Amino acid sequence: MAALTHLSLAEARDGLRKKAFSAEELVAAHVQAVEAARGLNAIITETPEAALAAAKASDARLAKGEGRALEGIPVTVKDLFCTEGIRTTAASRILDRFVPPYESTVTAKLWDAGAVPMGKTNLDEFAMGSSTTTSHFGPTENPWRREGDNRPLVAGGSSGGSAAAVAAGLCLGATGTDTGGSIRQPAAFCGVVGLKPTYGRCSRWGIVAFASSLDQAGPFARSVRDAAILLGAMAGFDPKDSTSADVPVPDFEAALGQGVRGLKIGIPKEYQADGMAEEVTALWEQGKVWLKDAGAEIVDVSLPHTRYALPAYYIIAPAEASSNLARYDGVRYGLRVAGEDLNDMYKKTRAEGFGREVRRRILIGAYVLSAGYYDAYYLKAQKVRTLIARDFEEAFGKVDVLLTPTTPTPAFPIGEKEDDPVAMYLNDVFTVPASLAGLPGVSVPAGLSADGLPLGLQLIGRAFDEATLLRAAAALEAAAPGIQRGA
Ligand code: GLN
Repeated sequence: MAALTHLSLAEARDGLRKKAFSAEELVAAHVQAVEAARGLNAIITETPEAALAAAKASDARLAKGEGRALEGIPVTVKDLFCTEGIRTTAASRILDRFVPPYESTVTAKLWDAGAVPMGKTNLDEFAMGSSTTTSHFGPTENPWRREGDNRPLVAGGSSGGSAAAVAAGLCLGATGTDTGGSIRQPAAFCGVVGLKPTYGRCSRWGIVAFASSLDQAGPFARSVRDAAILLGAMAGFDPKDSTSADVPVPDFEAALGQGVRGLKIGIPKEYQADGMAEEVTALWEQGKVWLKDAGAEIVDVSLPHTRYALPAYYIIAPAEASSNLARYDGVRYGLRVAGEDLNDMYKKTRAEGFGREVRRRILIGAYVLSAGYYDAYYLKAQKVRTLIARDFEEAFGKVDVLLTPTTPTPAFPIGEKEDDPVAMYLNDVFTVPASLAGLPGVSVPAGLSADGLPLGLQLIGRAFDEATLLRAAAALEAAAPGIQRGA
């Protein structure tokens, strides 16, 4: 039998039901893996006692034949989801001692499905970034290295801790959030599957807000099937989130077997970006061939406003962030740095509590929302957003799913791009458009770069049609050579 930490989630689930091993054994193996991998800095807060207690409870249920969908399955949670009684930091100094008195809806659903909490994963501060290097707790290392080059690489971001934890076998699945690419990009960099559902599919209640019209929770896993299983447990209407969608949650796992025969796959020509690695273009070509060979029809489409997506996103997201982060004032919760008077206390608390990137976003956001600039920037960006959504609507009149690269390059060394925010923002060029349109997207590990790093292909689907998206993802996964981390 494969080591317990190398099983897929589906294999572990089936093994537990057949009593091939116990939840306690499965969880103990993962607790050990977490301890052994502390050097990656993937996890901010480990919860081994809670995990082992949950495993015992799972074994009791399994013994009675009452196992639920994720009974006994070790998962990690991005440290942006509030977890009752467990510190939730958003990787920020301003929340570094915040212990929420309540549980986010998505994590509550996971625990209700029997999942076992292994810990809270590292991220870019307040989910702002593409590298997990803006964390107050230091960067997460990608478990992968370039061949012949031992420099530590970024795990991607902002959900880099979750992606690295799944890739390194510290858990069988993880949650992330994706505002402009924060699930799909780190998934691509770490060689795992990452799925951003349709906006409104998973509740935002209890997730520390970054940009509320974009934020969406979703799963990381080592296979498409595992991602489908996790999504099924995380999704669903929640009256506590006013933008949660009251739509049925299909059996995503059951949809996988249907294949892609007869599906139309669109190739948006605008996704051939400047600065894109040649091997990324080659992999994209290969992806088309794989899907065609599996019976899909490949159709060229155009999304003409794509090139405005990144600038529009970097206006809208900071605007919403500047408003959402106004609540961290040192009065109600989080860090407080004493000052001479109230204003001085606000100033000192926010200056010391927020890191550089977060302060930059707050400044940009406050600027584009200020009188005199609102029309020129914020309103215009909103109009662009509408045009981008319209492009997708038109394309989905002709095709069922779109195929694109996930990122223009593979993972880069920690420290690179640090002084060049625009170069960092360019990581999101392929992920941001679907975010602006609220559409579901998934990154599937599809190949390796010349120096041995994972590369991902992205599929984008119609709103609330994650089932078709996952079908196409499964076909891509089946055709792509399984990628294995070097020794
Ligand atoms: N990298 C993007 C940003 O910095 C996206 C982040 C995210 O999706 N949370 O805003």
